[in-house]
This record gives sequence, C-alpha cells and structure tokens, in this order.
Amino acid sequence: MSTGGTLTFDIQKNPNPATASEREALLQNPGFGRIFTDHMVTIRYSQDRGWHSAKIEPRKALALDPATVVLHYAQEIFEGMKAYHLPDGGAALFRPSANARRFQNSAERLAMPRLPEELFVESVRELVKIEREWIPTAEGASLYLRPFLIGTEVALGTKPSAEYIYCVIASPVASFFKGGGSAVTLWVSENFTRAAPGGTGAAKCGGNYAASLAALAEGQREGCDQVVFLDAVEKRWIEELGGMNVFFVFDDGSLQTPPLTGTILPGITRDSLIKLGRDMGLTVREEPYSIEQWQADAESGRLRESFACGTAAVVTPIGKVKGRKHSFTIGDGNAGATTQRLKAALTDIQFGRAPDKNEWLDRL
Ligand code: PMP
Repeated sequence: MSTGGTLTFDIQKNPNPATASEREALLQNPGFGRIFTDHMVTIRYSQDRGWHSAKIEPRKALALDPATVVLHYAQEIFEGMKAYHLPDGGAALFRPSANARRFQNSAERLAMPRLPEELFVESVRELVKIEREWIPTAEGASLYLRPFLIGTEVALGTKPSAEYIYCVIASPVASFFKGGGSAVTLWVSENFTRAAPGGTGAAKCGGNYAASLAALAEGQREGCDQVVFLDAVEKRWIEELGGMNVFFVFDDGSLQTPPLTGTILPGITRDSLIKLGRDMGLTVREEPYSIEQWQADAESGRLRESFACGTAAVVTPIGKVKGRKHSFTIGDGNAGATTQRLKAALTDIQFGRAPDKNEWLDRL
C-alpha cells in the first residue's frame, strides 16, 4: 500500500515478472518503445466517485467494449517522461510536475477530468520504484514513462465520457532516432498542417499524432527522418516537428524558437533549454521564424545551427531540410557547437552528472 495525494495505491505484484537474465537481455538493445516492464498503474474515474481504485498491477491488456468512447471519438491524452539512472546508483525523474500540469491542460482541452498534480507524480514515482531494475544503465538510455487517460464510457453519443481509465506504462529506451545522436533530415510538410488556431495543437492528445502520420509517411518516402510543420493560416511560419520542438542558432550566438501561440506543444525540454541557454549568457528569443527566412539564413550563413528537442529526441541536430519548394543544408550538415553544448548541459543534469541548480530532478 502506498498513498498518493488522497488515494492509496493497491500494489499487486506480478507473479511472473521477467527474470533477471531475460531483463538483462532485453536491456542490451531496447530500441524505442518496443519492450515493456512487468507492471502498470491504473486509476479509475467516474462522475459519481471521482478518482478511485488506484492500483499498481501486472501489465495486461485492457478489455474495452467495442462501443467505448475512446475508440470512436479519440478522447485520449498522454504524457511522455523519463526516469534516469544516476551515478550514485539512485534514480530520478525530470520535472514530473511540469508533465502533471501539462496533463491537466490537455485534459481540460479534451473535456476530461483533471488528475490532481500530486496523484500524477505519485503514480509515476510508484511505478518507477517497483520497476527500478528496468532503468537501463547504458550511456544515454533511460526508462520512458507513458501516462495516459482514456474515455471508457460505453456510448456512441458525441459527448464527454462519464468514465475514464488513467494508466501508466513503462518502456526502457535507447536513442529515438536510428542514427543515435547524428543530424537528421526534415521534410517540410506543405500538403498537411498539424494544428490550427483554436484546435488541439497545444494539447498532448492522440488525435494530433494520428493527424501527423500521413505527413510523416510522405517525408519518409522522400528519404527524410521527420516532418517540420508550418502554421495552418499563412503556411509559412515554422511551428514544430511531429513530436519535437525546434530551435535555431545564429551567427551572433543567439537562439530562437517559435512562440507558444496555442498551436504547438509547450515542450518541457524546450522550456528547460530556454533557461539553460539564458544561464549560459545566450540571448534566447521566442519569436516566429518563416521557412523562407530559414532557407535564406542557412544559405547566407547567418543561421549556424538548428536542432529538434523533446523528451524522446533529447537534443537532435538538424542537418538538412527538404520540401517541394525547399532544399538546404544547415552549417556543414552536422551537429554544431551550441547544439552540443546545450545537449550536454541538459543531459548532465538529467543523468546526475552536473549540479541541479534549478531543482529539476525528483529523486526516488
Ligand atoms: N512537440 C510535440 C508535438 C511532442 O509530441 C513533444 C514530445 N512530448 C514535444 C514537442 C516535446 O515535448 P517535451 O520536451 O515535453 O517532451
């Protein structure tokens, strides 16, 4: 038993967990999001009882009636965060309260109940504590955590579900991109946009990702790794990638990233890098940047570097940008010095190698 906020977690241990040798074999080459740990968190919500029945239980399939709301109207939100192995043998989460708050904001946008911040953080902490042995110790690897909330009422009328299941699963992960930390090529999506003003772009809901897949498939056919989306109105302002925010580094040493106007996800990595950049004495602007300017600045040399950032992608250099009307290389096509410096500053904190001045780590 363990208490989270006002709820007590009923802990049911998996009677058949992976053996130490099976786990070690899986951790050798985890890839991204392919293998999962032995347990999961579930908490139920109903209009009359509120949040209830908090459990840590063996990971298993969810049984859903075919008329369950989430299967038809995509009333679903999620989060993505990581637990890191520290040099002293301990483990920590990175800014879990920020994920809890974003989860609440996503819930509000999708007309779902807000999980209390303490309960969100406690649920993730409890799962990681029971799955400690699944946190990889290899360089750059970590335990990815996926909290999500689905509408589970059995009803085909379009209205907010009256019942929900919150769940957290965990997956040991290495690098998100196949090439490890090397520079990626982006496809500029001109046929598809990701989010419009008034839409759900700032919420982390499954529907946003479903809507981005055709653009990603198009980009992959063109030999690119990821897609960069433009704004839905003028189709010229750079917004973000399918699952990452984007930064630009200029010849005067300044940094720029698109502003949070409601159509992009407010990334926790983005927010952390803005702070780390400013701590290094760099100027960081949150201002719109157009695709034409990006190409012009890359060609003139005014733009030196660009990178994508997110929990999964960490800090990934952007080497080339391609599209129907665009094709340009950034710098020499490889990771630039500022990109590398920011990545090191961030990951040194996450992996406990540098002082945590901002108190971002939540030790277990
Ligand atoms: N944008 C999108 C669309 C994302 O899915 C993510 C990943 N959560 C990000 C940006 C980066 O957010 P964070 O740094 O919080 O992982």
